[in-house]
Amino acid sequence: MKSLLKIFIPLFMTLLFKGCGSDNQVNLKIDLELETHVKSFISTLKDNGVSIPFKNYREMRSVEISDTEDSHDYGICIIELNENRFADTVLLESAINRRVLIFKEKIIADFPHNYEQMLKLVVYHELIHCILEKEHDHSTDGIMATNVSDLLYLYPFTLDNLIESSLTPDYLKSLNMIGH
Ligand SMILES: [Zn+2]
Repeated sequence: MKSLLKIFIPLFMTLLFKGCGSDNQVNLKIDLELETHVKSFISTLKDNGVSIPFKNYREMRSVEISDTEDSHDYGICIIELNENRFADTVLLESAINRRVLIFKEKIIADFPHNYEQMLKLVVYHELIHCILEKEHDHSTDGIMATNVSDLLYLYPFTLDNLIESSLTPDYLKSLNMIGH
């Protein structure tokens, strides 16, 4: 009945294909420690006039801390697709569930002095994948850079500005959509 296929997009993104029923409720579970960042992500998008695709938001199930010890990533966006989709359907139109996992211990281990900033950055990065369906940014040093850990070394004193400017319409428009 179920088929599983994982595609790894470098570092932070996984698509998980899984066949199961669809459900239309908004039922988003957020770990307490991540709640501030998720709320500020949504409110900053609204303040900046960026429209939030309702279907994608409705499919968000959780933004959670995971204690997977062997993770090489700081976070991951998992999108589950209905395997019974029509062949000509745009890939993510058949999404049924979206989840973000944050690997807190890995962030603390690598950024003991900048943990809070990096946590916010990783939450934003994964939400841009999962809700806005944006790809990595291969051309600049923005928040969607494939290797976000470099950003701290590139912008040690302006990381907050970089995080905030990542939610502007211009930056978001410059990113490619996943699956296109
Ligand atoms: Zn990523």
